[in-house]
Amino acid sequence: MSPGRTDRDIPGAVHAALLSHFGPLHWWPGESPFEIALGAILTQNTSWSRVEIAMDGIREKGLLDAHALHALSDDELAELIRPSGTFRIKAGYVRTFLSWLVGSHEGDLPAALAGDTAKKREELLALRGIGRETADSILLYAGGHPVFVVDAYTRRIFSRHGFVARGAPYDHIRTWFEDRLPAAPEVLNELHAQIVSVGKDFCRPRNPRCETCPLRVLGEPDLRR
Ligand code: SF4
Repeated sequence: MSPGRTDRDIPGAVHAALLSHFGPLHWWPGESPFEIALGAILTQNTSWSRVEIAMDGIREKGLLDAHALHALSDDELAELIRPSGTFRIKAGYVRTFLSWLVGSHEGDLPAALAGDTAKKREELLALRGIGRETADSILLYAGGHPVFVVDAYTRRIFSRHGFVARGAPYDHIRTWFEDRLPAAPEVLNELHAQIVSVGKDFCRPRNPRCETCPLRVLGEPDLRR
């Protein structure tokens, strides 16, 4: 980066550079908080395109609703989410999430997610099948909490440039970003979307396109990372 910039400036400078390159991405992975949360659970270990097939099927049947899905049998629920892969396991995760949402919060996800961020994270992490990345995706995109979502793209890009260790604990990387960015959901939302775009378009596991990448400004990467 430019002379005089410190490690603390990196996330903000990355955000600015990518805003200049991509323009505003307005990324929002779903049309309602419930759809976003369901998508966050289903997208584990599969591509978003497969999740979209499952979501389209659920929507077409008029079942994109916590109470409607909760009323289904386990077999019916599993069949609905089959396109997202490992569907019996994921049906168990969705069932646990729905039992929490309907049983403890009357199916009202915005109300369920309202309150202290750390407490809500712990509440979600206590549900079987919701790990840290999924919990933070739900908190940020469905609940509007100011959290940074760490994914494989984040690890790859920022480890290649030496800012984080690729295998560092999730919360270490999350707080590295959060300590250096405003606690503004719209900024954290946009930066995550930008990082996903860089990861897909440029920073691929093999043959990364460094020559044309907007993050060349970060300096020489170590592509062995
Ligand atoms: S410059 Fe290369 S290593 Fe750095 S983010 Fe872009 S593609 Fe990845």
